[in-house]
Amino acid sequence: MSELKYRSPKGVHDVLPADHQYMTYIKKAVRHRARQAGYKRIDPPIFEERALFERGIGSHTDIVEKELFNVGRKGAADTADKDYALRPEFTAGICRSYIEHGMQELPQPVELYAIGPCFRYDRPQKGRYRQFHQFDFEVIGLSDPSIDAQLIHVVWKVFDDLKILRRLNLQINNIGSSDDRKNYVQALKDYFVGKERNLPEKDRERLQTNPLRLLDSKEEDTQILIKMAPTLDQFIHPESKKYHTALLEYLDALGITYTQNTSLVRGLDYYNQTVFEFWDSSTGAQNAVGGGGRYDYLIEQLGGKATPGVGFAGGMERILWHMQEAGVEAPNKDQVDVFVAQLGPEAKKKCLMLVSELRDLGIHTVGALGEASLKSQMRLADRFQARYTLLLGQMEVKEDTIILRDMAAGKQKQMPFSKVVPEIVKLLGAEHLDHYSLMDKFGKFSDPGEG
Ligand code: AMP
Repeated sequence: MSELKYRSPKGVHDVLPADHQYMTYIKKAVRHRARQAGYKRIDPPIFEERALFERGIGSHTDIVEKELFNVGRKGAADTADKDYALRPEFTAGICRSYIEHGMQELPQPVELYAIGPCFRYDRPQKGRYRQFHQFDFEVIGLSDPSIDAQLIHVVWKVFDDLKILRRLNLQINNIGSSDDRKNYVQALKDYFVGKERNLPEKDRERLQTNPLRLLDSKEEDTQILIKMAPTLDQFIHPESKKYHTALLEYLDALGITYTQNTSLVRGLDYYNQTVFEFWDSSTGAQNAVGGGGRYDYLIEQLGGKATPGVGFAGGMERILWHMQEAGVEAPNKDQVDVFVAQLGPEAKKKCLMLVSELRDLGIHTVGALGEASLKSQMRLADRFQARYTLLLGQMEVKEDTIILRDMAAGKQKQMPFSKVVPEIVKLLGAEHLDHYSLMDKFGKFSDPGEG
């Protein structure tokens, strides 16, 4: 075999049709639950000013420090142009949009959801890609434990719809206010005075830039030291504890099970109070399918009026993997109902019109428009796994008939051409046809004859 000239770049992949069945299924569940709960769809751009992500997510987080995909400027002379980066997640872009479009004037909270690709220049490995897909929920404008509980409930419902809930484990924590965190960070720094020498170089740097990241360090030496270090929950103000207790009560009332995890902090700077992640029950923190938390200071930090918010992002590739592992079957709507084979110039013209008529009725139809023999067209029909094949040879055109073949039964019959469409509709069942109709806001179908 000759060497492939082009391959997809490292860490990214094609979403092939077989996976799209699942992607569509996941999107449907997300859209359905989002609509039920009053969320509206938003699509922030795929790239934004790099500074937005730096300010929002934090310049010393892994995502910004190592994983941002920078987008080249058009030319050095174009000074009006800014430095851009591909979005590594949705929250910063959605909050920027909330401020830019004056959404604080809307009734609060503003509930938004997004679905689409995100980019991180991660080291590619299983479940970790450079382009992956997220769905994202954000509730902006109110801070209350019941809002957090409701958001978690919507996510819970999505995982339940996708039949992977029992494979997941909800981990939850309260990381306090930003003041609590500041005090804790100081205490951590104090604790490490004199111990820096025992830290690996990477963590010694983190101690200066973002000490909280030592908590989930993978380095053994750091882990040993962290065991004796002060813990965040010693610094959390009673107000936050009250907030957390209320949230857990609401979750209990909604029948949501969780594990309290005091070392869960999430890597992003903007969180306060509630943080949560859905972990794979068998592998734990690695390959979480989604996570989120409250970000009451983010909008102000980005230049807006102080506005609280809470959000969640789910990773679609990892969810898809769980669905396949769990044996969940996504519906396949791409099957071919009818394959039309033809021979001769007259038959080809008739075939074109017949294919068009069948398609308009919602019947998935493929026409063999090449010049192959009828025999090889029949083989093609088999490979397409068509349920029925229609054969139009020169003889049939002359007699105004057509041959209808049931592929599974291996039986065929000749019939008048004018009867074949209703016969196919009857065989497939009118309720199984794939109708596509655009409805206007009054629920009326558009008239295809107009404009
Ligand atoms: P995060 O906010 O970083 O926790 O990301 C939210 C979710 O997005 C994660 O739980 C993953 O399911 C997914 N995710 C994040 N980064 C990647 C990646 N590099 N490849 C695939 N999925 C990812």
